[in-house]
Parts: sequence; structure tokens; C-alpha cells
Amino acid sequence: MGILSSLFGNGAEAETKAPRYAHVKIHPAVDGGVKPGSANFNGGVLTCHCKSNPVKVRVSAQTAHNHVCGCSKCWKPRGALFAQIAVVSRDKVEVIANGDKLQIVDPAAAIQRHACRECGVHMFGRIENSEHPFYGLDFVHTELSDESGWSPPQFAAFVSSIIETGTPAERMGEIRGRLHELGLEPYDCLSPPLMDAIAAHAAKSKAA
Ligand SMILES: [Zn+2]
Ligand SMILES: [Zn+2]
Repeated sequence: MGILSSLFGNGAEAETKAPRYAHVKIHPAVDGGVKPGSANFNGGVLTCHCKSNPVKVRVSAQTAHNHVCGCSKCWKPRGALFAQIAVVSRDKVEVIANGDKLQIVDPAAAIQRHACRECGVHMFGRIENSEHPFYGLDFVHTELSDESGWSPPQFAAFVSSIIETGTPAERMGEIRGRLHELGLEPYDCLSPPLMDAIAAHAAKSKAA
């Protein structure tokens, strides 16, 4: 192939469009491409991984701020580098089966993650401190539901944190490359709108 055709030919265009980092696995829900959500979607039922008597949680609304998260606290499916997590109003979250199997992972944490004692899956995270900027919102993993149409992940949070849990720092280039390819802008904290919401809450609390 001549240098001109490799620079300007159709082949070169196709090459730039082909994913370079498809071998990098982020999370099963996004590895094949981020699926769009459905308008008028009204939620579904999250089920833990237990073969018998699974915990079931009904989420009766569409979620918001869905993202993949690299922090060490969010529950990740086996082998996944990131968690996928979204928020929904806490009054839309209801345990409908085997709630006796739930326990709080760390009662001292700001987000109390209610996990299944047997399979370890986190069913919802709840904030009990009414002063917290995200009070009133529960955190949920929508891949635990069979329904499709949930709000798609929009960004990647706490990306550098995956190094703390064992990912070699040398891999971060290809991991950030893959996140960009998927349209999941990588941040090392939360996304700017969420960081702004936290700061605005802090400013309001200071003024009060
Ligand atoms: Zn379970
Ligand atoms: Zn997290």
C-alpha cells in the first residue's frame, strides 16, 4: 500500500474507526459497546447471584448518572476492572424477596452497601446522613436486572483507583484508551456535573 493511500485511502479511514483497544475488558455490560437506554423505561427487578432464594429488589423508575466506577468499594462482577453503578430515588427501591439475606458491608461508610450475605452481590447502596450531597439517592447495579432500557453509563469515575486494587499502572494507557473508544470519558474522581453538585452543596451548607 502506497503512503498516500495509507494516509488518505478508505482503508486508513476504516482503520481509524476500528477499535484499537477492544481487547481491554472494562465491564461485561459495556465491553460489546454501550447500549442506549429506552425512553419511558420504568425500571425492573435486580436479582442477586444466588442459585436458590435470591434476594430481589424492585427499582420502579429509570436510573440516572449511570457510570463505570474503578473505586475499591463498588461491587464488581468477577473479573471486571470496573463496577457499573447508577442512582435512583430511594423511595423507588424496595426489597421484594429474601431481604433477610442482606447485610451492610461497612456500617461506617457514607454509602451503606446492602449486600447478599451468601453471594456477596451488592443490591443497593443507601445514604443515611441527611447532610450528604447525594442523600435521597440509592446506588444500584442495573446489570442485575433482565430488563433492557436502563440509562446507559455516561462516564468512568475513579479510574486511577483500579491501581490500588492491583491493576499495573502500565496498563492505564490502554484502559483509558478503551474508555475513550466506548465514549466513557475517564475521570479520576466523579464527572464534572457531579463534582459541581457536591461543591454547590458544600457552599450552601456553609452559607446556612
Ligand atoms: Zn445472593
Ligand atoms: Zn465506586
